[in-house]
Amino acid sequence: MTASAPSHQARHFALIPAAGIGARVGGNIPKQYLPLAGKPMLQYALDTFAVSAAIAHTFLVVSAEDGYIDDFLATQPQLAGKLTVLRNGGATRQDSVLNGLQAIKAQLGADDWVLVHDAARPGLTAELLERLITALHDDEVGGLLALPVVDTLKRSGGAPEHRVQATVARAALWAAQTPQMFRYGLLTRALEQAHAQNRVGDITDDASAIEMLGLQPKLVEGSPRNFKVTLAHDVALAELFLKT
Ligand code: C5P
Repeated sequence: MTASAPSHQARHFALIPAAGIGARVGGNIPKQYLPLAGKPMLQYALDTFAVSAAIAHTFLVVSAEDGYIDDFLATQPQLAGKLTVLRNGGATRQDSVLNGLQAIKAQLGADDWVLVHDAARPGLTAELLERLITALHDDEVGGLLALPVVDTLKRSGGAPEHRVQATVARAALWAAQTPQMFRYGLLTRALEQAHAQNRVGDITDDASAIEMLGLQPKLVEGSPRNFKVTLAHDVALAELFLKT
């Protein structure tokens, strides 16, 4: 199977899945609304996309039961006209992404690019966004920000002992980040196929679904500051990055 041919008129859209609750970070509110250095976490990524001249529009996927989004939007006049909220998040991240893609079908062409970005990565900068878009602008498959792994990797034999089974060669390993940038038609087809084949459980990012089609997404070097806020102690680290 081949990817669609590049089109020079293709536009770039951001799609931000934000329908998780982020239980591992703790606290009483979903993590995307946690205050970080004075602003809700979600605002950082939305502002980065909103001010980018390369991004035609941003779509935000929230849960239908999200009780915070309306109050949040009321404090964000700078996003007016640049953001559409889709209230059809699903049970998993990949469900939320696919629901979002299907909801915007009438507004996008198959060759338009979609940049899927986790709401829980507030450290995305304009420079990283530009690096990704520039690296992939005429790519046939698409790709993602990622970081070469620097630590030595151990495979555990499992709980509770956690004895080392093996050391995994890290030379060619990269840790995936977001945005992950693929053409609308290809990404939608990849996720629909993963669902149809009951393989969604094997997918933890958008690129995995593309890989299941036999395609090879391109790795574009990201940054440590673009890490995913997951655990309680990540909050302080995110604030350090966001203040610089
Ligand atoms: O939970 P995790 O940090 O891996 O989630 C990554 C992103 O996917 C977050 O922005 C989260 O809000 C989103 N998500 C979603 N729908 C879910 C679960 C997670 O949109 N059901």
